[in-house]
Amino acid sequence: MVLGEGHQRFIQTMMIRGIVNEQEAKTLHQHCCEVHKEHYVADKLEEFIQVVNSKLEALNMQIRTRASEDNGMTCYALVNTANNELTRMSSDYADNELELFRRTMDLIMSSDDSTASSTDILNMADSLQTRKLTKSAAECLLKRMVSDNWLVEKQGDYSLSTRCVMDMEPYIRTMYDEEQVKVCAVCHCLAFKYQICANPLCTVKIHNPCAEKYFKKKAVQRCPGCSELWPNKVRAECRQSLSQRQR
Ligand SMILES: [Zn+2]
Ligand SMILES: [Zn+2]
Repeated sequence: MVLGEGHQRFIQTMMIRGIVNEQEAKTLHQHCCEVHKEHYVADKLEEFIQVVNSKLEALNMQIRTRASEDNGMTCYALVNTANNELTRMSSDYADNELELFRRTMDLIMSSDDSTASSTDILNMADSLQTRKLTKSAAECLLKRMVSDNWLVEKQGDYSLSTRCVMDMEPYIRTMYDEEQVKVCAVCHCLAFKYQICANPLCTVKIHNPCAEKYFKKKAVQRCPGCSELWPNKVRAECRQSLSQRQR
């Protein structure tokens, strides 16, 4: 497969952006082809990305797609395929910054709602083993991690971004135990925002957008694992994203 300048521009942009939504990926595809006067076919984005991925393979990277946990929309992210370390972050952050990120991740992974409060994160800043961070340095760091698209902040609570989850899935699956790593029963991807089965003995979890799609076709909503009636209520997170979409 021939890698044109258009493909290279696409890679460069993804290196900077990290993640784009479907519309942005389509626009970027068109832009890259047009700027370099290469043949552009609107519905050939997938083929275009295949060529890009054949080049990225040697760099242990890949463009992957996944439905966003918030709204089910497809995202395209540049992910690391190499190993289980936080490789892509390590060139941009110091050791103590990475330690605070790891410990933030620990908090998120062990919480019920997949978030960590800013207070809890900032309280860890002066007990880092590598090198302490002042509170204000830690605050700046959190802002940077949000703008770099690793964390998402909502009213003082931090969660992992879609890009982070896609990039660090192997790391997360290796580092955390089965109880902490939740997987969606419909799409089998990691789940951080999800609905749970009403049966306390059942461990089935389903992403909100996956549940919407899955149950839409069913006359009676039953758990795909234990057949218990699926509660007809959605969690707050989902209600919020639904009302945001309706707005
Ligand atoms: Zn899912
Ligand atoms: Zn169940």
